[in-house]
Amino acid sequence: MTLKLDINPIKTWLPKLDNPLLIAGPCSLETEKQVLDTARLLAKDKRVFVYRGGVWKPRTRPGMFEGVGSIGLKWLQMVKEETGLPVGTEVANAQHTEEALKAGLDVLWIGARSTASPFVVQEIADVVKGTNAVVMVKNPVNPDVQLWMGAIERIHQAGIRNIVAIHRGFTPFVETKYRNYPNWKTVIELKRLMPNLPIICDPSHIAGKREYLFEISQKAFDMGMDGLMIESHIDPTCALSDAAQQLTPADLGKLLDKLVIRYETTNNPAFENQLDVLRNRIDDLDTELLEILSTRVNTIKKIGQYKKENNVTALQINRWTQLMENRVNIGKKLELNEAFVKSIFQLIHEDSVRMQTEIMDEE
Ligand code: PEP
Ligand code: MN
Repeated sequence: MTLKLDINPIKTWLPKLDNPLLIAGPCSLETEKQVLDTARLLAKDKRVFVYRGGVWKPRTRPGMFEGVGSIGLKWLQMVKEETGLPVGTEVANAQHTEEALKAGLDVLWIGARSTASPFVVQEIADVVKGTNAVVMVKNPVNPDVQLWMGAIERIHQAGIRNIVAIHRGFTPFVETKYRNYPNWKTVIELKRLMPNLPIICDPSHIAGKREYLFEISQKAFDMGMDGLMIESHIDPTCALSDAAQQLTPADLGKLLDKLVIRYETTNNPAFENQLDVLRNRIDDLDTELLEILSTRVNTIKKIGQYKKENNVTALQINRWTQLMENRVNIGKKLELNEAFVKSIFQLIHEDSVRMQTEIMDEE
């Protein structure tokens, strides 16, 4: 089931937007000078549309820098006044939300830890109710698309129509190269379930390290995401939080220069025609694939019947091992991805065994 929520396109609340939406700014606001120096440089890069900065910081362990608090709101107001950039921060309870709205912030976002808590989201929703706020909802720390949707629905039920989802990756179970692993499947599922919802990517919290920012950002555009939220600090290595993942405004500019921005559609009729030709070919190939599978299923049924008559088991482990080896080798010669071939044959074999046992259990 899809939920066609009544959500405004980004351009309705950000008329200056010239796709994609790029939000940049430091992880944490630290000093007035750091906030303003960073903002001045980012504002010069006309590709940045919103300035971000954490005022209240959710830290995993106590005793780490927990943000400058309310004074940061004043610095964000100064950024807005001087550069004209809309400004935003993370809110994690009713009091933050009240203060941020009172300070005239343009964007509020709900952090990953808060999205995972329906009580917190509801508390924020109750405060934004009846306002024109722009609320962005990061994915929860665990890859639960329902929890993410639930948070978005709570904000929507409070009458907010300016909503954006942010993919910032999920807490890994085991150590991975990224700080929070991206899960594009979950993002695609959210897009399918809520087709009107703009979704942007936060490569900074996915990457955890500067060196991975480019590959994740490019992947986000390849996947058709609507923009990026990237952390940028005037002096990243000295940042009081997330030092390893922030970029100077100049390096952010270089990263943006390299990125290929992709759109879901184009106005180029030649491209659309050629795409149609290729898609028709894929449709035909898929039909052929299904026909071949159906022939295979019929053959499996015959094997099942034959085994039944001779009291032979549905599963013969040697045959299965040889079959898999053989199919992987053929796949390699055809330059198919090994993991892909393996998972396809795992599914095919599983279903073959299931069918044979069904035949054997028939009266
Ligand atoms: C942040 O944006 O600085 C932040 C704390 O992000 P997240 O909620 O994604 O961890
Ligand atoms: Mn951060």
